[in-house]
Amino acid sequence: MRAMVLEEYGKPLVLKQLDVPKPKAHEVVIRVKACGMCGTDLKIAAGKIPDTRIPVTMGHEPAGEVVDVGSEVTSLKPGDRVFAHFYVTCGRCEFCRTNRESICRNLIGRVGFEVDGGYADYLKLPETSFVKFPDNISYEEAAVLGDAVGTAFHALYNRGRLMPSQTVLVMGVGGVGLHVVQVAKAFNARVIGVGRDPQKLELAKQYGADEVVQYTEPTDDYVRRVKGLLEEGDHGVHIVVETVGTPASMEANLKLLRPGGRMVIVGYLPGTTFRVDPLWQLLEEVEILGSRACTKTELQAVVKLVARGLVRPVITQRFELPEVNRAFEELRQNKILGRAVVVP
Ligand SMILES: [Zn+2]
Ligand SMILES: [Zn+2]
Repeated sequence: MRAMVLEEYGKPLVLKQLDVPKPKAHEVVIRVKACGMCGTDLKIAAGKIPDTRIPVTMGHEPAGEVVDVGSEVTSLKPGDRVFAHFYVTCGRCEFCRTNRESICRNLIGRVGFEVDGGYADYLKLPETSFVKFPDNISYEEAAVLGDAVGTAFHALYNRGRLMPSQTVLVMGVGGVGLHVVQVAKAFNARVIGVGRDPQKLELAKQYGADEVVQYTEPTDDYVRRVKGLLEEGDHGVHIVVETVGTPASMEANLKLLRPGGRMVIVGYLPGTTFRVDPLWQLLEEVEILGSRACTKTELQAVVKLVARGLVRPVITQRFELPEVNRAFEELRQNKILGRAVVVP
């Protein structure tokens, strides 16, 4: 089978011919039908994510059809439509047992980071790593549920504790941000999308953002314009979902939180820090929260949101398997509007 393998950090992926994997007792092999592409891919390939291992077949948003199951597998059979929860966890530690498996202390690996991923014709993972989805969701749509939609859901619902009708500021309306917009709207939130690219802002409106504001630096101008959109007595937004994560955007967005508000960090620039005044944070009881991927239980909820049409996965570009390096280049140049998928 074909696979796009990261052999050296900072170098293009290499198209390799590998053996089709055989499942052990508790494992399942799928034929990959689509694999979402993510900004994190660029950081993995550049060697900027701690703990990754090479060589590795990249791609952490795979979906496909089950073709082979191990002798002890009971929940899946050939022909099932599945996508991957990309955190392969121990299932036994305190965090796995309390539905917080993305912070598992004995992480076996992340698909496409340390464990071979979905930029390949076939993929093998433990049975427990797969989530089934119904016929009314396509493979391409399902591919982006595990990260782009799952991460959005975890950030808003679990970390941000979003309640209906609250105001959410979505910083960055790219691959993840467009899904944050939609999940927030599924909770009947009021959504303000902030971004740099007018085309992405237009897309955010199409997918439900109530208002969009163009991000500029210095940040005073957009902060003022967002404040102008708030109603008398709002005192700021309830939740900021930060998918951009530059020091400038984080420091600016803190100014937009209402007392008791929450900033949820989903995006980041590796190696940077931002400033926060602890007295201000104390007095305002503002919360700054990290949000890491999502849980498998949340993905089951995400499948329902998509199956019922409340969230529509935003796929804007398709690439064939050998084109992954070119796709990375387009992603780097900010030419991908929503999510791109690789179709073997
Ligand atoms: Zn990702
Ligand atoms: Zn664990």
